[in-house]
Order: sequence, then structure tokens, then C-alpha cells
Amino acid sequence: MGDARIRRLVIVGGGTAGWLTAALLARALGPQLRIALVESAEIGTVGVGEATIPQILHVNRFLGLDEDDMLRAVHGTFKLGVQLNDFTRVGESYLHAFGDLGLPLGLTPFHHYWLRSRGRPGAAGLWAHSLNAAAAAANRFARMDTVPNSPLDGIRYAYHFDALRYGQYLRRHIAPGVVERIEGKVVDVRLRAGDGYIESLLLEGGATVAGDFFIDCSGFRGLLIEGALKAGYENWQHWLPCDRALAVASAPGGAMRPYTQASARSAGWQWRIPLQTRTGNGHVYCSRFVSDDEAAAQLLANLETEALGDPRPLRFVTGMRKQAWSRNCLALGLAAGFMEPLESTSIHLVQSGVNRLLAMFPDRHCDPMLVDEYNRQTRFEYERVRDFLILHYKATERSDTPFWRQCGAMEIPPGLARRIELFRRTGMIFREGDELFAETGWLQVLLGQRIEPARHHPLADALSDQQLDHFLANVRTLVGRAAATLPPHHEFVARHCGMPAPAEA
Ligand SMILES: Cc1cc2nc3c(=O)[nH]c(=O)nc-3n(C[C@H](O)[C@H](O)[C@H](O)COP(=O)(O)OP(=O)(O)OC[C@H]3O[C@@H](n4cnc5c(N)ncnc54)[C@H](O)[C@@H]3O)c2cc1C
Repeated sequence: MGDARIRRLVIVGGGTAGWLTAALLARALGPQLRIALVESAEIGTVGVGEATIPQILHVNRFLGLDEDDMLRAVHGTFKLGVQLNDFTRVGESYLHAFGDLGLPLGLTPFHHYWLRSRGRPGAAGLWAHSLNAAAAAANRFARMDTVPNSPLDGIRYAYHFDALRYGQYLRRHIAPGVVERIEGKVVDVRLRAGDGYIESLLLEGGATVAGDFFIDCSGFRGLLIEGALKAGYENWQHWLPCDRALAVASAPGGAMRPYTQASARSAGWQWRIPLQTRTGNGHVYCSRFVSDDEAAAQLLANLETEALGDPRPLRFVTGMRKQAWSRNCLALGLAAGFMEPLESTSIHLVQSGVNRLLAMFPDRHCDPMLVDEYNRQTRFEYERVRDFLILHYKATERSDTPFWRQCGAMEIPPGLARRIELFRRTGMIFREGDELFAETGWLQVLLGQRIEPARHHPLADALSDQQLDHFLANVRTLVGRAAATLPPHHEFVARHCGMPAPAEA
């Protein structure tokens, strides 16, 4: 048997997906194979993707990045969760905070004690037991691994950043000589006769780029995975109906909130993301229910500060590639699918796709069993994220617009329907396998969307009423005290990762 090792790997696309993939692969496999990345300045990147989830910290650790240096370079701020406004009822808000709520007693999850306390004198809301929520409410932030002198976990955070600068930052931190950057526009994809594996790419001007394995990070168009290999796309618009977005930056201003805001609109929702130098805003909407002009008017009417330009339109179809890996080509980023940005999951899905590829790294034959396994695991991950997102739309009590009426009435995937019903009847939630969102994430969105459990876990009855009140009050005291020690978010940013003040003229 000849040597079938992959020697040359080609990435098409220099957006966040392309450069993140290049940086991770260069670090993991650098000396063993040559990596080329083809990107086209003429085509450009999607240019959005400013909010992340805590798993992004693993990228920093793996790449050996200095967090403060990175945040300074990408004009970043910290994110403790997502505030969801008006999704359930107009005027109602809740937070999907990262991290734990309270702490379990024995094997019984914390929230069952809290469920039992509902209706008791002095009972407090669920989020009073979350340090992330307490810090977010007070616009405070600091890195804190554990709550001092207590068994409680500390702050769990992610970032808000300028997506373009993040890609550039990653690029600068790749060891010299490991990734060859090729500026050029791919105009044709050449397939090998017989098995249809990709052999090379033809660039405008006539140059070719050959490789053993190709990673398609070309964005929505899926130049290789769809254009050449016809992997197929599974459309989820009947569950995730938004299909357009308008993005606009506005001047920085007001409090630097350490969380993303997502506010429901008549046929979609609007994001607000504070960076050091601007606020990112965008309106994600369903074009069947609102015109582009009306969507733009709603966006602009709900900015806190002056717009820094005209809203930029984006179109998308929610869903996933039927096969993210086909023959010797793997799609990552928008080329692999898009489920909309409500819970900021896209960049993470690139990261976990690269992890999966590394775990299953093939030789040039790309064993079909390996390919199937990758696609099976990817589907599992995407479908669980999809269900989590659908929950935000389905579990609404809004009936004030045709869009929200349709969301409330839609049929949902059976697995999600079962989860909701199980929670409603028993208060129980179980994370499936290694799905992205943990029980605490599901809990907050289920309760935030007003799915009220009929009972709590019987083991939560082991405490007397007095012990229960004492336990919950103790958690709240620890959370409140820890939150009070945190500095204001803007102060923390200025002290640790603030951009240098502009030089005096
Ligand atoms: C409205 C909206 C909001 C979003 N918000 C978030 C968020 O808050 N958090 C999050 O995690 N994600 C978010 N995302 C997703 C996020 O933007 C993407 O996952 C991320 O930017 C990666 O995009 P990409 O690199 O796959 O594609 P792109 O940025 O589109 O990059 C594609 C690359 O391929 C290159 N290319 C294309 N065709 C060719 C060709 N023929 N020849 C050569 N090069 C080519 C382009 O030049 C470009 O470099 C959002 C997406 C949208 C649409």
C-alpha cells in the first residue's frame, strides 16, 4: 500500500470560518501538511458575526492567544448571556445567562428546589440565583472562576467582537510559513474522472491550486460542496422562518452592557451588540411578513445611537447541508448551513466541525464510514441547536402579528415537542449526548418562554420548608455579594483590554 497521507490541504474562503479553520489546523497539524487558503477580496466576506458563546475560550487556549491582546485588537467586550425581549409577551424580558444557576444538592438539579419554592412567602425569581444574571443586571464584569468561599461556580463568559478583525487577528497569529494565502477567485472546480473527488481549483487568470483534501469555507454559496459536489441542502424555513437580515453599526453609547440584546419585532427580531468602538445592530426578519423598507424602518427606529451608515442587506435560507462532508471535501461555516444568529452559534459550529475533523482525520481515500460518521455527528449537533432555536419562536404567547401567530401554531420536530411536554409535566430536562446547550440553557429558555412545570422532582421534598428557604436565600446572598465586588463592565474593559486613546492632534 502506498502512502495515502494527506499532504496538501486547501481551504477556500477567508471569512471567519476560513481563518479560524486555518488557525486551528495549522496549530494541530502544521508541520505535517501544507495548508493553502484561497480568498477573494473582490467577493469579500459576510462581515457579520459579532457575538459568541463561552466555548470560544477553548480556541484562545488551544491557539495560545492572549485574551486581553485579542480583545483589544478586535474592539471586543465581554458577554454574559443573551437578553431576550418581547419573545413571549410584549413587555416581557428574560436572560439566557451562561453558566450555572445555584448549585445541585446531591443528585437533584438546583432548579427543582427553586420550582418547589414558587408560591412560598419571600420566593425569588430563578435568575436571582445566577451570578451571570446578577452581574449582567448591574452591567458588571470581571473574570472570576469560582465565587470566593463558596462551592458556587463563578462567571462564565464569551465575547462580542468585530468579526472582520477577529479573522485578521487569527491570521496574524498563524506561525509563519504554515499557511500559504492565495488571493484569487475560484472559477472552476476540477473533479477526478472515475470517483468525482476534487482534484484542483481553477483561479481567474488561469492558475490552478491542487490538493488532497479541500475545506469549503466559501460562505452561503458553498462553491465546492454544492456548486461542484451537489451535496444538497435541507431547508428548515418551516421551523426557522426568518430569511433576511439588515445590519448596521451605530455610535457607541450608553452603558456598555455585558450581554447581547435580542428584541422581538413584528416579524423577526433585532440584535444589539456593544463593542468598544461601536454598537452592532441588525434586524433578522421573515420577508413573507414584512417588507425590506418596513424592516429597515423598524431597525433604525430602535437604535440607541446614531447610525453609522446605511443598513446592509443579507439573505439566507435556514437549514443545513445534507452532507457537510462529501468525498474529499468538508464544508464549514455558512457553506455547511445556517440556523440564524439568535443564540450566536455559527462560529462555534465551525470550531466543533474542526474538532470533529481532527478526531476523524482521514487519508486521501476518505473512508466512506468515516465520512458517514462525521455527517451523522454533525447532523445530531445541528438538529439539537435547531430545536433550541425553534423553542424561542414556538413557545410564544404573542398573537399580535401574523408572524407570531404562525410561529405559535407551527408543528415542531417530535424530539422538541417531547422535551417541552416532559418539562411541562415533570420539570425535568436532560441534555442529550454532548449536544451544545446544557440543561441550564434549556431551563432558562423554557421558563423564559413561560413553559410552567406542573411539579418538581420528588427528591427536592427531602428538605424541610425552613431548610429550603435557608438554602435558596444562602445562594442568593452569595450571588449578590459576589456580584457587588465586580467592577463596572466598561471599567474592566478599559483597564484590561481597552483600546489606546487616540493620540492628541
Ligand atoms: C445576519 C447574520 C448575523 C450573524 N451573527 C452571528 C453571530 O452573532 N455569531 C456567530 O457566531 N455567527 C453569526 N453569523 C454567522 C457568521 O457570520 C458566520 O458563521 C461567519 O462569519 C463565517 O462565515 P463564513 O466564513 O462561512 O463565510 P463568509 O464570511 O461569507 O466568507 C466566505 C469567504 O469565501 C470567499 N469566497 C467565496 N467565493 C469565492 C470564490 N469564488 N473564490 C475565492 N474565494 C471565494 C470570500 O471571499 C470569503 O473570504 C451571522 C450571520 C448572519 C447572516
